[in-house]
Amino acid sequence: MRSELYIDGTWRPSSDGRTFEVVDPASEEVIHRIAAATAEDVDLAVRAARRAFDRDGWPQKTGAERARYLRAIAAGIRARQAEIARLETIDNGKPLPEADWDVADAAGCFDFYASLAEQLDDDPEETIALADDRFTSRAVKEPIGVAGAIIPWNYPLLMASWKVAPALAAGCTVVLKPAEVTSLTALELAAVAEEAGLPPGVLNVVTGSGTVAGQAIIDHRDVDKLAFTGSGPVGSKIMAAAARDIKRVSLELGGKSPFVVFADSDIDKAVEWIMFGIFWNQGQVCSATSRVLVQEGIYAKLLARLVTETDRIRIGNGLDEGVLLGPLVSKKQHEQVVAAIEAAKAAGATVACGGTRPEGFDRGYYLRPTVLTDVPLDSAAWVEEIFGPVVCVRPFGTEEEAIALANDSRFGLAAAVMSADDARAERVAKAFRAGIVWINCSQPTFTEAPWGGYKQSGIGRELGRWGLDNYLEVKQITRYVSGEPW
Ligand code: NAD
Repeated sequence: MRSELYIDGTWRPSSDGRTFEVVDPASEEVIHRIAAATAEDVDLAVRAARRAFDRDGWPQKTGAERARYLRAIAAGIRARQAEIARLETIDNGKPLPEADWDVADAAGCFDFYASLAEQLDDDPEETIALADDRFTSRAVKEPIGVAGAIIPWNYPLLMASWKVAPALAAGCTVVLKPAEVTSLTALELAAVAEEAGLPPGVLNVVTGSGTVAGQAIIDHRDVDKLAFTGSGPVGSKIMAAAARDIKRVSLELGGKSPFVVFADSDIDKAVEWIMFGIFWNQGQVCSATSRVLVQEGIYAKLLARLVTETDRIRIGNGLDEGVLLGPLVSKKQHEQVVAAIEAAKAAGATVACGGTRPEGFDRGYYLRPTVLTDVPLDSAAWVEEIFGPVVCVRPFGTEEEAIALANDSRFGLAAAVMSADDARAERVAKAFRAGIVWINCSQPTFTEAPWGGYKQSGIGRELGRWGLDNYLEVKQITRYVSGEPW
């Protein structure tokens, strides 16, 4: 396990020697200590990234040259997949097969952006058709500069990859700050990049708190672009900091995503996708479909089936075989989710199952997967993101009512619809005010497809070619050819 900051190609302690604890959420034990970066450390990292961008030629490398580094990073991640997945599980709590899948996906993300980096060489500029033939004009894409990437704890390595891979592919250099509760695999990513021979300063990883290290990144005048995934309140701060210096900014924030199930759906399949949509990763998923709307004809039957299956989920240490639900990431998160369930009960909600610590688990941040019904539409449980294994289920009558309920949210990250009627599913998919819509499923995520939210769920899109555009400027180059210029 790494414990130092990775700045300018070297490993070093924080400037004041301070560290913070790494806690295993399954045992509540402190298993490691990691350097807590100061503003001075962040300044060093930003300067290194600045130099790598301005003077050492990272943006001038061809896309194919940068792609070679990205592919070497992908190979390095795969070579240590089992070890990195294990670290993710002991740091975050998620079941090992899920962590293993995340690590494979992270490697795939580097390969994907390697291909897009190569395409930048094939397609370096776009000719613009001008009405005025005295001039020719073209649009050229260039990297933005130094990117400050700040990520949350729910998919530590994957969220790092979603930002680092497109940034490096575009020709940007990066200062990455992982969430303080899950820093281990971001440091492994730095180690893999170092082994891949990535030039010093191109990727820097500063571990530490949001209020010190994170704040120092967003306030730094030499950072050109802020890429953030996390909560709405911190997203607001980041946008305000970006506004001050007119930094480019992309935000992936929270959600309260609906899942509309029509009465013509296969109940077994619907229950499977509902469970996948809210219990995967202990429900700590920004796009989790946490509001389930079920058409009246099948409501009672579906709810009964959902409760039975939810109670069967095997809870335990993510390292143990067959476990489907691990502990929540931290004590704070556990307390917040329990408080949200208590508040829902106080507001009149019924706990159909779960809601408590599972029997036999005295230690670890465990919580039984929870199904809530009768949740008032104006209660926090219905309106606010809980970010835990808690789903609110509610009946609806008509398609119109379902769409109105689904869209009645300040968030707009994701939404799902299930129906045997394709035309209806398409209609509802188009009516959702959300950036990601699933038909007859919930949560499948693809590196090639755009990811991001409407409304207060964020600004900009990650993944796919949209993810690369996040790190590119567009330059117009216009040439005078002939004729009377005025
Ligand atoms: P958070 O906003 O508290 O923290 C996210 C990151 O921001 C952490 O690295 C933290 O250290 C940093 N940070 C905190 N204060 C900061 C400041 N003042 N300046 C700069 N950085 C600061 O969120 P979290 O608790 O880590 O993650 C949970 C939230 O993230 C949920 O709301 C969830 O919906 C959201 N999320 C969204 C997506 C998405 O793709 N849209 C993905 C994962 C998580």
